[in-house]
Amino acid sequence: MSKFADHNFAKQKVLIRVDFNVPLNDKYEITDDTRIRAAIPTIKKVISDGGSVILMSHFGRPKDGPTEKYSLQHLVPHIYKLLNESAGKPVKVFFANDCIGEQAYLTAGMLSPGEVLLLENLRFYKEEEKGDEKFAEKLSKLGDVYVNDAFGTAHRAHASTAVIAKFFPGDKKMFGLLMEAEVASAEKVLHQSEKPFVAIIGGAKVSDKILIIENLLERATDIIIGGGMAYTFMKAAGGNIGKSLCEEDRLDTASELIKKAEAKGVCIHLPSDSIIADKFAADAETSVSPSNNVPDGWMGLDIGPNACEQFCNVIKHSKTILWNGPMGVFEMEKFQHGTKAVATAIAEATEDGSFSLVGGGDSVAAVNQFGFADKVSYVSTGGGALLEYFEGKVLPGIAAIQS
Ligand code: AMP
Repeated sequence: MSKFADHNFAKQKVLIRVDFNVPLNDKYEITDDTRIRAAIPTIKKVISDGGSVILMSHFGRPKDGPTEKYSLQHLVPHIYKLLNESAGKPVKVFFANDCIGEQAYLTAGMLSPGEVLLLENLRFYKEEEKGDEKFAEKLSKLGDVYVNDAFGTAHRAHASTAVIAKFFPGDKKMFGLLMEAEVASAEKVLHQSEKPFVAIIGGAKVSDKILIIENLLERATDIIIGGGMAYTFMKAAGGNIGKSLCEEDRLDTASELIKKAEAKGVCIHLPSDSIIADKFAADAETSVSPSNNVPDGWMGLDIGPNACEQFCNVIKHSKTILWNGPMGVFEMEKFQHGTKAVATAIAEATEDGSFSLVGGGDSVAAVNQFGFADKVSYVSTGGGALLEYFEGKVLPGIAAIQS
């Protein structure tokens, strides 16, 4: 497999699949540009080598072809700004209002070294999500080299993320810098973890996390379970959980996971106590209660002080840390202490030399909100993709390049 950093892109047209699916407000202003920023180093490397860049991405979920709302044109000024932030030769950014067709081919063909072209939303064609070969082949004609830097969509076998790779020889297809870093940090945790290895799994639903817990039972030494999903485990073990979140149809699954963990010698940590509330609201009455004895009419909305200590101890003694999902309803101030405490313990362990990977929408939002993003080893940009990777699935976007 060709390595991006070793490649010289001089005079080449480099077709880069990025994930520019960023949130916009109703004035078409970008409210979080993390995904665009994450792709900038890859784009800049091609430009500084003297290559030209053709960017392709999906954007939202358009249903019936082109619509103003889902046009990638809204992003052009911001991409221009980010590429021209540092001093140097100004970088021109062009836009093609179709991702295939004459205008796209002509503009791509006329690009000079150092110039950038953004193609219109790939999902204006149904063929993109269907993984249509002919569509992928048409896209492939836009560049001499194919670079996949869209980890966020690596779990989709779409035309531009996976199928397209077959139209490029082995030395002309590769991961971009972001994708390389994502894959390297996920591999490090999944396949080269230094022990003890703790996986911290939180969030609302057990059903979303069963596969990841099952796969981690093969690799982790400890699994911490927090957030709303912990109460299904508590109830499965015979506890009273009041009106805490519970998936009745997953009680058996929870019991089985506990049994499997015991058989494999993996230590499952459930929160010994909880911050309970009389309603799901920021101004709720609160109290502390054992997590397996929540009074009727009350619900657990965060892990309690003993659980914080219990979890933080495990984290601080671990050499590899994976974190997916908050410990409580961190969006409300009264219930964010547990998530903050876990983030702090991860930051401390990282400072002491442990490797920590944070991934999955809400834990990433939490580390950003609490200012811990640069205190952990790696924050993944791929929610669903990272989850599927840790479920042990082969991601088509990765396999297409590696094979
Ligand atoms: P997920 O998307 O499954 O990772 O879940 C994240 C959501 O779980 C966040 O919006 C949290 O507010 C929510 N959450 C975490 N802990 C609890 C809890 N104890 N009860 C209800 N919701 C929770």
